Amino acid sequence: MTESESLKANLGRLGLKRMAEVFENEADRAVQLKTSYSGYLGRVVEEELLAKTERSVDCRIKNAHFPYGKTLESFDYAFQPGLSEVLVRELAELGFLGRRENIILIGPPGVGKTHLAIGLGIKACVARKRVRFFSAMELLDELTAAQAVRNLVQRLEALSRWDLLIIDELGYLPMDKPRANLCFQLVSRCYEQNSLVVTSNKAFDQWGEVFGDEVIAGAILDRLLHHSHIIAVQGESFRMRDKRTKGVDRAAKQPDNQQAENS
Ligand code: ADP
Ligand code: MG
Repeated sequence: MTESESLKANLGRLGLKRMAEVFENEADRAVQLKTSYSGYLGRVVEEELLAKTERSVDCRIKNAHFPYGKTLESFDYAFQPGLSEVLVRELAELGFLGRRENIILIGPPGVGKTHLAIGLGIKACVARKRVRFFSAMELLDELTAAQAVRNLVQRLEALSRWDLLIIDELGYLPMDKPRANLCFQLVSRCYEQNSLVVTSNKAFDQWGEVFGDEVIAGAILDRLLHHSHIIAVQGESFRMRDKRTKGVDRAAKQPDNQQAENS
């Protein structure tokens, strides 16, 4: 075995995969540039560190269980002129996580609430925060199951340990009393403990209907909104815009004269 082969094998054994990949090319470069020994070593260690950071971010993104990958950079603010780009950019700095503040994204379907929530979640993963995404239904199903096996306290405790918990689509379907109660327990457990990003298509004055009980809805809102940023995303559905660009919306199927009337 040559010196190089043995070094490669040893680096592999130590789990320093990136160093194993780059040490030969970097050595050639170091010879050309007359780099010092410590300069060369520093360079390959830096490569390993970069790869490690990348792996850790990838791992955080995987553990977050985002339903799809969307970034804040790919969000088209021009399409939602009512939304404050400055506010979203400020939230993307993640100061809200340190202050244990919540973000509530409210608006009709298709306006980009989930996209923004995922975008913020990915920023938090990049900043090495622990992030978990749930649909509200999935989360309440899990809590119901935990309660059935008397494991609710531990489950709530575990949920409060994520730096950022994203609860998507709260209020899409009305809830029965036990689920409304579980939701209250979750929000209470996370209150001033960690940050929640919640998306909902229901205005706050409709939450009594969603939770089937004005008192529980009030108690949930009280805790959720105490330290929070409320973002109303209004405007048009992006999905409809996509459809329109592809020329398959209803208007496109109307006869010419009718289209003229509508335009
Ligand atoms: P909501 O959660 O409000 O129902 P989504 O976030 O799921 O809406 O958005 C629906 C689709 O449209 C997604 O693919 C999302 O990435 C895209 N989308 C919505 N708004 C925007 C926007 N302003 N810029 C870019 N993509 C958008
Ligand atoms: Mg959504």
